[in-house]
Amino acid sequence: MKINIVTMFPEFFDALLEVSLVGRARAEGQLETNVIDLREFGLGKHRQLDDAPFGGGPGMVMMVEPLDKALQPLASTHRIYFTPAGAPLTQATLDRWAIEEEVTLLCGRYEGIDQRVIDLHIDEEVSLGDYVLAGGEVAAALVIEGIARLLPGVVGNPDSTECESFRGGLLEEPVYTRPAEYRGLEVPEVLLSGDHGRIEEWRRRQREERTRARRPDLGEDADGRDY
Ligand code: SAH
Repeated sequence: MKINIVTMFPEFFDALLEVSLVGRARAEGQLETNVIDLREFGLGKHRQLDDAPFGGGPGMVMMVEPLDKALQPLASTHRIYFTPAGAPLTQATLDRWAIEEEVTLLCGRYEGIDQRVIDLHIDEEVSLGDYVLAGGEVAAALVIEGIARLLPGVVGNPDSTECESFRGGLLEEPVYTRPAEYRGLEVPEVLLSGDHGRIEEWRRRQREERTRARRPDLGEDADGRDY
């Protein structure tokens, strides 16, 4: 899979693309990335990318022409723009993108981008949540990591991306590792029992209880029961 990142700040992605899971996915060829520096498409001697908004108001807006030029060669890819006005990003969104051949992530800055860039080029507008960041780079970083771990062979055991939070509308249960007791805190006895039936039953109940208590908005449990 290939991810294009269109940004004013290419260096923002240096560490992300080298370390841990994303670095490995790239080194092993499951993920190809292409960081496109918007400055190269800027206008005039100063490579200008922004201008004052028509109609007045505070801040600056990213101009249509540089973005149009940067995005034209990427027309055959699935093009995503990050904006607080987009649909909320969820695991289901990442699942859907992880099976695309090529996606393009457009990072906004300033007060955002000229609407005509969206009209001409954007397939999907997505928000990280109900708050305002300074730019789309954090959103793009999040999406790259979220997608990379879903690519075949990147996470060693495919079960770990199958049975985790948000699958089947549930949060994950609490997890423990050695030692069995630490500062008086004991691991639930059932997990030490070796009884796989009981363990599975305990885990299912924990997932349901946690989801009901913490995220009732996630809707229904793995068996389709409504909360
Ligand atoms: N004036 C805009 C905010 C601009 S913030 C508004 O009120 O909606 C500058 C850039 O940061 C945006 O273009 C977008 O790419 C990014 N950004 C900010 N908050 C975001 C969020 N919650 N989700 C996704 N991208 C966001």
